[in-house]
Amino acid sequence: MVHFVGAGPGAPDLITLRGATLLETADVVIYAGSLVNPALLSRCKDGCAVYNSATMTLDEVLAVMEAAEGKSVVRLHTGDPALYGAIREQIDALTAKGIGWDVTPGVSSLFGASAALGAEFTLPGVSQSLIVTRLAGRTSVPEGERLRDLARHGASMAIFLSAGLLDGVQSELLAGGLSADTPAAIVYKATWQEEKVVRCAVGTLAKAGAAERITKTALVLVGRFLDAPYEKSKLYDPAYSTAYRRRSAGGEIAYLAFTERGRALADTLCAQTGGTVSCTRDGVTLNDWTASRFPVGRALVYVGAAGIAVRAVAPHLLSKVSDPAVVAVDEGGRFAVPIASGHLGGANALSREIARLTGGVAVVTTATDVVGVFAVDDWARTQNCAVVNPARIKTVSGRLLSGEQITLRSAYPIDGETPDGVLLTDDGTADVWVDIRPHESLTVVPRTLTLGVGCRRGTARETLEARFAAFCERCGILPQAIGAAATIDRKANEPGLLAFCAARGWRLETYTAEELSAVGDGFTASSFVAETTGVDNVCERAAVRSSGGALYARKFAGDGVTFALAEKPTRLNWGEDNG
Ligand code: SAH
Repeated sequence: MVHFVGAGPGAPDLITLRGATLLETADVVIYAGSLVNPALLSRCKDGCAVYNSATMTLDEVLAVMEAAEGKSVVRLHTGDPALYGAIREQIDALTAKGIGWDVTPGVSSLFGASAALGAEFTLPGVSQSLIVTRLAGRTSVPEGERLRDLARHGASMAIFLSAGLLDGVQSELLAGGLSADTPAAIVYKATWQEEKVVRCAVGTLAKAGAAERITKTALVLVGRFLDAPYEKSKLYDPAYSTAYRRRSAGGEIAYLAFTERGRALADTLCAQTGGTVSCTRDGVTLNDWTASRFPVGRALVYVGAAGIAVRAVAPHLLSKVSDPAVVAVDEGGRFAVPIASGHLGGANALSREIARLTGGVAVVTTATDVVGVFAVDDWARTQNCAVVNPARIKTVSGRLLSGEQITLRSAYPIDGETPDGVLLTDDGTADVWVDIRPHESLTVVPRTLTLGVGCRRGTARETLEARFAAFCERCGILPQAIGAAATIDRKANEPGLLAFCAARGWRLETYTAEELSAVGDGFTASSFVAETTGVDNVCERAAVRSSGGALYARKFAGDGVTFALAEKPTRLNWGEDNG
């Protein structure tokens, strides 16, 4: 009789009672040595013959089973044998030979991993399904089950057998439409002594796995069910790329080389600019690398032909407001070519920097740079401003290029000499507005506001989103004008609030009740708030304290959420980098 037994995920006391009894009475044990914890074998009785199947073929395993006719054989599989256990082929062969068999289930590593995270796969309102899958490797996956197809469901996912392919997992999940900030976790050797839990996001899977040197015996869990604990962890802060977010705040410069000479150049450049260097000689592929870096990187630099860069990034390009800088530099360092996002993304500036470092030439082709006229999007970037209505950049630049003047109205003082072609005006119909309020024209939005927040414990991100939209509308401000959020320390770990802030790339500053009380007077006091938090107002005080400026909008309350805004003193300048 052959007993297929699930050994559990690793910890020797996570085998079932039935499995343990079978192991203790077995005459022959064949265990999957690469994954089953050998500590379990101490249960075997004296004289039990133990085989490690890691070094055996299927035929050899079957031969041992057959030779043990009449004895009790335990075939010990990791986790539960029904998942990637290859038991079917053994069962069929045994049946053909007339040898009896049965199966004792085990705790899958899938549940060892969820236990390590304290996570529930099936959160109401988040996901009610769990997809158990793997990336295609040596074993292919059927049509329709590619990771990108499954990712589209947005359900909770557990990905087996793919820890050595995290680049591929990441790019497939992104290709399936998951946003780079979707929470993810890598659980290495769940329930073993060496267990390691790495919380990250879809956009940082490859990086997080590489940082922890995880290449095998790990599960990748993905989905919003991981939201809360993920948001608490700041270990691998993903660089989000929502329309609200300035990438340069988080992303890095990623270099990809194709030859040893290219790698040497990338290393030299990277030492100066910071970032990471990858090389296709190490097995990274052009497309995987691009897919994983594009959503999170500040800049992608291809050390090779411009055509390669163009083809690689083409499927990913969305908008000059959100795309990263893309630069190609030949491996001799003679030419640095900005391919996309020259102004807002900073590709022109980066190309000039690279050319300076290599002694080469920056091949800048954006018209405003060629003619030397003012480029409003480039200027916005240097001033740490967002751009609203970017479709109008073309018109404005076009007018400047053809020698016409454009009018600009600013709600903030701008130091330095006004560029040629730009006429400052007080006219409401200016071509360009510099303001935190919405306008029909091209609008350059300084991130001058800090959002003060108070919320009840357990407030959902969706509630905060809805109240925030109402608040922005009521104040008549553009959400892009907000650069940070602030609250009281007791809310520092509110999952909904953290997710809300993270999605916009805001850091969340927190203060103690004493710090908030010390901010001054004149705030909207509430005795209820004072009783529960120890300070008479949270949102207004936190906003003012964090911004170092003045109250801009008073407390706006509803659904257990309070918002307020403070504005820091702001001056822009025409010349220098304000970033
Ligand atoms: N039948 C097993 C899976 C075997 S396939 C089960 O139910 O768990 C082997 C894959 O399982 C590994 O590549 C890894 O992805 C996962 N795995 C097995 N043990 C693990 C553990 N302790 N922690 C994390 N992943 C594990």
